[in-house]
Amino acid sequence: MLPTIEMRKVMIIGAGFAGLSAARKLAQCGLGLEITLFDKKEDSAFLPLLPDCLGRGVNPEFLLSNIENFCGKLKIKRVREEAAAVDFESQQVVTLASKYAYDFLIIASGSQTNFFSNQAAQNYAYALNNINDLKPITEALEGNKFEYFIICGGGYTGVEIAANLWLYFKKAGRDKKIIIVERAPVILGPLPDWIKTYVQNNLKSMGVEILANSVIEEIQKDRVRVSGRPVFEKAMLIWSPGVRTADFIQQLPVAKNPQGRIVVDEYLRANPHCFCAGDTAFFGDKNNFLRMAVQFAINQGNQAAVNIIRSIKNLPLKKFRPLDLGYIIPLANNKSCGEVFGFKLKGLLPTALHFIMCIFRSAGFKNKVGIISDLIKSLPGPYFIGPGKV
Ligand SMILES: Cc1cc2nc3c(=O)[nH]c(=O)nc-3n(C[C@H](O)[C@H](O)[C@H](O)COP(=O)(O)OP(=O)(O)OC[C@H]3O[C@@H](n4cnc5c(N)ncnc54)[C@H](O)[C@@H]3O)c2cc1C
Repeated sequence: MLPTIEMRKVMIIGAGFAGLSAARKLAQCGLGLEITLFDKKEDSAFLPLLPDCLGRGVNPEFLLSNIENFCGKLKIKRVREEAAAVDFESQQVVTLASKYAYDFLIIASGSQTNFFSNQAAQNYAYALNNINDLKPITEALEGNKFEYFIICGGGYTGVEIAANLWLYFKKAGRDKKIIIVERAPVILGPLPDWIKTYVQNNLKSMGVEILANSVIEEIQKDRVRVSGRPVFEKAMLIWSPGVRTADFIQQLPVAKNPQGRIVVDEYLRANPHCFCAGDTAFFGDKNNFLRMAVQFAINQGNQAAVNIIRSIKNLPLKKFRPLDLGYIIPLANNKSCGEVFGFKLKGLLPTALHFIMCIFRSAGFKNKVGIISDLIKSLPGPYFIGPGKV
């Protein structure tokens, strides 16, 4: 028999956008649930501004919000450990130290850099997928020992990193070569042609070279060999060909896509007692699925919590109906592009919208003010636009 409502244990793995929105909803639902949040990190990080910490000099501190404080305010139990496994049979979250029984579980552990089992990349390449990745990159940039900056992967993150490196070197007055290496014939594969063309021209105007139909063939310390090219010496490799979900998910007996995202039903369930949200959840089918984005992570976290509350109250579950507001590819020369509410946007407006979204969604007044102040400081003039006509 299930325990009384007051005794119900709801566990959430991951204190990112999805996990925190779920935790807040559950804590405020008035059912007196016992909520436990698992995350090893001290702070939750606002990832969309990571590249701007490089180019625009946004202080990484303003991306952080303390998980302990969040849990304290909402009377949520905090476990500062990583989930190492989940036992669906006995309904337990397993960490290296202990086992925790749950009635309902939300897996919201986000995604991490996918090194595709490439040991040399793991040893020598840099990545930009979480807050801890920033320090090694900024230290390497400050050390000024590299001439070539090779970005493996021409997806959203790859192009954002390239543009921010361009801005960093422009501000530092250094002339460096930035190269994007992309296996496919074109960067930003699944996006509409006009975006690909706009971004490509934009990057070219910054002097970023795009090597399409190319692969990284060999990686050594400070040396990179790209197909059909002489070895790049003094090369810093930034690894951005894709992401995958957390390690423990790989062992779970559930359907997953090739990135390890858990296939969820229309109610965001992997099974009747386990919901998934954010980057961890694969919602849709292989031709039409939700991309990894903050808006979906927050909405899915909320919806997973609502469906747990409804399960406890024996009410029918609600289908998740995603509202796609659109997307923006923010580029550091302020010529961004994207589709918002179905409108095609180019230039300064999408740049501004991106930062408005970031400021709006950032946690806490201090962070918001800090981000605004750092963004203003990064502008050489009020209407700064980068080089070249795009
Ligand atoms: C550089 C970069 C730029 C981006 N730009 C944009 C953008 O402009 N717009 C946009 O919409 N999206 C952007 N994204 C994507 C967006 O950040 C993600 O889609 C979003 O963070 C997903 O939220 P989440 O809650 O699923 O995961 P996350 O925010 O990644 O949070 C996951 C949490 O789970 C924790 N965790 C991981 N494994 C475990 C474990 N085993 N046990 C316990 N806890 C665990 C992690 O520590 C982390 O705190 C960007 C991402 C990156 C990396």
